[in-house]
Amino acid sequence: MFISIEGMDGSGKTTALQRVKEHLEALNYKVIMTREPGGLPISEKLRKIVLNNDGIGMEPWTEALLFIAARKEHLEKVIKPYLAKGYIVISDRFMDSTTAYQGGARGLGIDYLNDLQKRILDNFVPDLTLYFELSFEEAEKRLTGRPDEKNRLDEEGQKFKEGVKSAFEELVKKELERITVIDAGKSPDEVFEAAKNVILEKIKL
Ligand code: ATP
Ligand code: C5P
Ligand code: MG
Repeated sequence: MFISIEGMDGSGKTTALQRVKEHLEALNYKVIMTREPGGLPISEKLRKIVLNNDGIGMEPWTEALLFIAARKEHLEKVIKPYLAKGYIVISDRFMDSTTAYQGGARGLGIDYLNDLQKRILDNFVPDLTLYFELSFEEAEKRLTGRPDEKNRLDEEGQKFKEGVKSAFEELVKKELERITVIDAGKSPDEVFEAAKNVILEKIKL
């Protein structure tokens, strides 16, 4: 079972996922939690190149292709091998982020990037995707004061954020079977409960 979690920066994905993983492990499921961009050394290197490029602008297609390259490595070297060993694999972001950020916000085309990725990833798509939906105002509040990482969206401006959000919303409508919307504006306990319940329901099917 492969599950991806998607949503804007600051929507609470990583926070909820940590708890979901612990919960599933307590129920004796074999679970691996991984993240994108990243998940293995080569893809973490690509993450650094794209996210810490010291302000040197990159062509949108260069950025998109680096994210997809990192994803291909992650899929073949981490996700598929763990799936083959019977693990539930949960990825903090996957292909929909590229479709939303580069396809939507950077203007490369939502359908184009969705289709391109399906071809490059040999039609591998998650069994389940949770989309963490949150208002800009709440995301802003949460990210202000988060000490560990720079908020990349701060550098981009409102238009970019709107592009990301509306692209995710378009994807949700297009991939109804796969994507479940989680109201990420609720308390941490409520978000965890909602995410856990959707995942358990899918696992038990
Ligand atoms: P990114 O995409 O940038 O990695 P994220 O979706 O993983 O962001 P988190 O890092 O989990 O988001 O959360 C962002 C901040 O909001 C953190 O400081 C976290 O403690 C806080 N937070 C997470 N979930 C909630 C919640 N449900 N209510 C209020 N605050 C929350
Ligand atoms: O979720 P995480 O904090 O690991 O994501 C790292 C950053 O990469 C986020 O700020 C996100 O906006 C950005 N990103 C991106 N394009 C993607 C995936 C992530 O710009 N396709
Ligand atoms: Mg996170």
